[in-house]
Amino acid sequence: MASEMYFVIHSGIFKILPRPTRKKHPVSTSPIPPDLQPCAIVREVGLRDGLQSIAMVVSTAHKIEWINAAYAAGQREIEVGSFVPARLLPQLADTAEVLAHAKTLPGLVASVLVPNYKGAERALELGADLMIMPLSASHAHSLANLRKTPDEVVAEVARVRALRDASGSRTLIEGGVGTAFGCTLQGEVSESEVLRLMRALLDAGADRVSLADTVGYADPASVARLFGKARALVGDRLACAHFHDTRGMGLANVYAAWQAGITRFDACLAGIGGCPHAPGASGNVTTEDLVFMLERMGVATGIDVVALLALRQRVAGWLAGETLHGTLWQAGLPQNAAPAVLREAATA
Ligand SMILES: [Zn+2]
Repeated sequence: MASEMYFVIHSGIFKILPRPTRKKHPVSTSPIPPDLQPCAIVREVGLRDGLQSIAMVVSTAHKIEWINAAYAAGQREIEVGSFVPARLLPQLADTAEVLAHAKTLPGLVASVLVPNYKGAERALELGADLMIMPLSASHAHSLANLRKTPDEVVAEVARVRALRDASGSRTLIEGGVGTAFGCTLQGEVSESEVLRLMRALLDAGADRVSLADTVGYADPASVARLFGKARALVGDRLACAHFHDTRGMGLANVYAAWQAGITRFDACLAGIGGCPHAPGASGNVTTEDLVFMLERMGVATGIDVVALLALRQRVAGWLAGETLHGTLWQAGLPQNAAPAVLREAATA
């Protein structure tokens, strides 16, 4: 029976029946040929944005298990940690070790967050594929979070670019413009200031930029407007959208950004995440819900959502007592969206 091949979740019991090796995108049921199918990248940031806001320290072994399972599920971009002093974020103190493991997985783009020059030195030394340098468009948030003005951060990016070039490293630099839709400390953040800083980051030597709704203030209309303007200004060098689901608009905002031409999205498994310096911020867009939405739209992610749900179950076990988010794990996949491999197995 086909229905026996679907995973079920009842009373906390999660079960997936064995299935054969998959050959291509496992969930998409789109009739569009694979070479013409639109694609999107879901970058996992749970190991950094998620874990840094959770008091519990997840062991290095569990982080490695998480990365291995995410990779096996098809994820090819993972932010593995942050180079910040261990006394500030003990949760991420093992970033060097986790990065070293991530680098052993072929084709995986392993990124780290670096808040300053010192962190960038470590990222270069340890060979991260990508370093994300955060900048807060909100002056107040920038001072609280980074103890620098936004323009001082731009100057630091220029110094990091010089260091990168001098070292001969191929580590990419992404300038991540946070609080792009407003800020709990400052309130309004003007679009013109966001666009000015985004441009300044690129001029200072960032290879690309991303926009982040750090505190969950964005809505689909503001996303369409700002991402539309940003794309007009810098085109594909605007490489990623980072949304928090603080007020339940995360996926709607992803859709608006997708419509504006964005094809890379940050997300956290189980929707963990937040910002310690932005009171009220909680929950990144949930990876498994986002992958499901994109695949359901006919957008290929290369990620097996059933495998993600199984991983979520494991991670939830390590984070017992923490608040998790997401909806797909509760409802399960609709029968008409069963992964192709399961349907093939059911009819074999
Ligand atoms: Zn975030």
